[in-house]
Amino acid sequence: MAVYRCRVCGYIFDEEKEGKSIRDIDYCPRCKQPDDRFELVEETQDSNLTDSETQNNRS
Ligand SMILES: [Zn+2]
Repeated sequence: MAVYRCRVCGYIFDEEKEGKSIRDIDYCPRCKQPDDRFELVEETQDSNLTDSETQNNRS
């Protein structure tokens, strides 16, 4: 999950809050500019999972 910001209007698209990926939207919900106007603000990870827990879930 990651957070993106629209460089045109400053809209913050938080993938976690929106429940979808930036790739799932075609344009900014606020200013209707194409989604290539978004820049990455912050890359987030599932912080409640430690490395060992992640490996256990993978098996
Ligand atoms: Zn925008």
